[in-house]
Amino acid sequence: MSLEVIDRHSEALFEFLWCPVCGHEVFSHIPFEGVFCKNCNTQVELQESRETRGYEEAVLACFDTNSTWNLHVDEKLRRDLPDGSARVKILGAPGAYKVDWWSPAPGDDWQPVKRGQFSDVDEPADISHLA
Ligand SMILES: [Zn+2]
Repeated sequence: MSLEVIDRHSEALFEFLWCPVCGHEVFSHIPFEGVFCKNCNTQVELQESRETRGYEEAVLACFDTNSTWNLHVDEKLRRDLPDGSARVKILGAPGAYKVDWWSPAPGDDWQPVKRGQFSDVDEPADISHLA
């Protein structure tokens, strides 16, 4: 992952993203190491997708639980990813992103944790574009 990619996909993208392991939405950028969920330390890498389908931006966010803290200690608050990783494709433009797909596809075996699913705070209004 290059710093260029992070800079280009400014804060707007990180405001849209949330962590599919714990549902929190704050990420920390650690220079030369990467970007991690501030709550559970799951790593996320951004890659530009060549397949934009006409959208201004098309980004793959790849989550990896190798670095996740206390994954199995806090089972009620964290959900491991299938084989430790999952990707989500995001299309759109700042302020108007949407999820195109998850890989592996959510199903009976696995669902990404929804934004704020495990927190006590009210769900943000933009939860609707997850549907
Ligand atoms: Zn997390």
